[in-house]
Amino acid sequence: MQRPTLSLVLPIYNEEEVIAELHARLQDFLSKLGLDCEVLFINDGSKDRSLPLLREIARGEPRYRVLSFSRNFGHQAAISAGVDWARGRAVVVMDADLQDPPEVVLEMVARWREGFDVVYGKRRSREGETFFKLLTARWFYRIFAAMIPIEVPLDTGDFRLMSRRVVVALRALRETHRFVRGMVAWVGFKQTAVLYDRPGRFAGETKYPLKKMIRFAIDGITSFSVLPLRFSTYLGMLISVASLAVAIWAVVAHFVFRATVPGWTATVVLVSLLASVQLLMIGILGEYIGRIYEQVKGRPNYLVGDRVNASARPDDDALDDEDDASA
Ligand code: UDP
Ligand code: MG
Repeated sequence: MQRPTLSLVLPIYNEEEVIAELHARLQDFLSKLGLDCEVLFINDGSKDRSLPLLREIARGEPRYRVLSFSRNFGHQAAISAGVDWARGRAVVVMDADLQDPPEVVLEMVARWREGFDVVYGKRRSREGETFFKLLTARWFYRIFAAMIPIEVPLDTGDFRLMSRRVVVALRALRETHRFVRGMVAWVGFKQTAVLYDRPGRFAGETKYPLKKMIRFAIDGITSFSVLPLRFSTYLGMLISVASLAVAIWAVVAHFVFRATVPGWTATVVLVSLLASVQLLMIGILGEYIGRIYEQVKGRPNYLVGDRVNASARPDDDALDDEDDASA
């Protein structure tokens, strides 16, 4: 199979407002790039006119390919599909809303040529995001990095270039709850960053409302760390020691001071405190058990409906010698 040098993977969810501009910018970029490049749009069950617009782009030009999911499976599933279907010797994942400027890809390619397997875009600044998002993202990445035993880059989204051997490694990880930026850190190889200023969204609204952000954060932590489970063990020990002290106090109060009736407040406080701690810990257990359940079912992470210029999934997980060096 003739493999393109570069694949650009762009997840699309209700992006009709940006597609025309995206196409113009990509055309411009591809002519500047001067490499054999394919563009893989993953339509993640858009409900607007995104799919017909993408079809229109791909119709006349075979280097534009479209995979369309049967429904919305989420951003991380879309990236995973891109990784599964991309044929390039390097694969770049980027946002469709032009928040990941195509020009930065040139720099990524240059680093890949130097021999790096993963080149991730690290945000130097971030425009057009709410103060709340900036703050929570900042804290999330720091807490996440502190919790997990592998090294994860801070302030980095999914905008990154991956070499073939990283792509092949990622394809082998068939977990259900996918936190792709963590998985890429996990596979290792030679990784480096390019700094960039992240502009605001070109048009439309973020597809990551607070609810999805929280779910995403919990997925990230639970897929990479059992620390929350351990936390319940530690908290359990701490509370056992505290309740032992309270028990001793209660016995002494009863036998020595004979003052047991006014204990009502303490009882109520303790009972409700312990009940809430227990519920919280059961909740944490539940998060993990739920994920085991999802994983055991072993359902595919996405289903492809329509395809344009993408007749078959590349069945080419074998690495050849060339894939070790990026030349
Ligand atoms: N996206 C997707 N499926 C989803 C949500 C988002 O494919 O369920 C795509 C979206 O079209 C965009 C990218 O993922 O290309 C990142 O989403 P967005 O720009 O809304 O996130 P933000 O940059 O605000 O974090
Ligand atoms: Mg965006």
